[in-house]
Amino acid sequence: MKDTFKHKGLRQQLVNVVKGKGITDEKVLKAIGNIPRHLFMDSGFLDHAYQDKAFPIAADQTISQPFTVAFQTELLQIKPNDKILEIGTGSGYQTAVLCELGARVYSIERQNELFKKTSKFLPKLGYRAKKLIFGDGYIGLEEEAPFDGIIVTAGAPFVPKPLLSQLKIGGRLVIPVGDDVQTMTLFIRKGPKKFEQHDYGEFRFVPLLEDKN
Ligand code: SAH
Repeated sequence: MKDTFKHKGLRQQLVNVVKGKGITDEKVLKAIGNIPRHLFMDSGFLDHAYQDKAFPIAADQTISQPFTVAFQTELLQIKPNDKILEIGTGSGYQTAVLCELGARVYSIERQNELFKKTSKFLPKLGYRAKKLIFGDGYIGLEEEAPFDGIIVTAGAPFVPKPLLSQLKIGGRLVIPVGDDVQTMTLFIRKGPKKFEQHDYGEFRFVPLLEDKN
């Protein structure tokens, strides 16, 4: 698990690319600059780690594009110590970004293979989520609710109700909604039954699936 000057240089270029695409939050950019993304990928893709692209990981899933990770994270407006729920742990890259921002992170993954792999890997890099869970993101994590923020990193055909109800008042849910193409959507909880909704354009994610395996 090596992180060389070459990797650091490539990473700085990636930060500039992401910045050029409109990300302004310095803390988010710093997190992208700090995290050795190449270590989150299978060896066959190491050369691609610092391109602003999604790439395959295990179990037919993908590590999200850095711009997308930055975009979703920026929308969450995380403050240190915020309690954040992530749906779709995958490679753990997004989880690491949340940890870098000082969040207390709970993350759910439905693929057992990825859950096991990432549970071992993240602590090796020093990223300690509060809890990684093998389970179904559609139901959220009632026992730890309410959350300051919830981020869904797979395309949701609809907005799961439990995720809205597990937000604090003032809390933010960032979720790509749609089937083949998704609209990045932000819900801000304004009251027990009141949510403000904002749309942020089209993205493409692997689908949020029902039934775990
Ligand atoms: N955040 C990840 C992105 C992984 S892609 C990263 O940075 O690498 C989306 C992930 O969502 C996949 O790992 C997939 O297995 C997972 N997923 C799909 N449906 C899910 C569900 N219902 N509950 C939890 N995770 C799910």
